[in-house]
Amino acid sequence: MLTFYCPNCWTELQENTRKCPHCGYEVDHFESSSYEDKLLAALNHPLPERRIMAAQILGNLGSQRALKEFKNIIQAETDYFFLRAVLIASAKISSPDRFQILQLATKHESKLVRDLAVELLNQLTSGQEHDQWDRHTG
Ligand SMILES: [Zn+2]
Repeated sequence: MLTFYCPNCWTELQENTRKCPHCGYEVDHFESSSYEDKLLAALNHPLPERRIMAAQILGNLGSQRALKEFKNIIQAETDYFFLRAVLIASAKISSPDRFQILQLATKHESKLVRDLAVELLNQLTSGQEHDQWDRHTG
């Protein structure tokens, strides 16, 4: 089951909620594409905790579009906690691109980020078939 959040105030909601009990936002339906759009936009939210939350949800949704944003974030961002959420979310999204993103993060200026990226890559490659990836990178 996916967890849904009010797109306005980020209160956790039941999937079939029509109106946010916290802020009154009309949440008639969670149409998946617009929900993803809102989450992608929230990656640029001024409040760090909302950026982090958006990254986490996108990871849980397996958002392919998020990977492109994550790549940009890793190249530009310095906030460790946001980067941590982005890396963990990237690792959850099933796509060869996630390896590219984690590889990129192994060259990040922050040692914390580099260490986490290496750890996530190890988890991914030890847990499953990765022949294709090896061949791909040469
Ligand atoms: Zn709300």
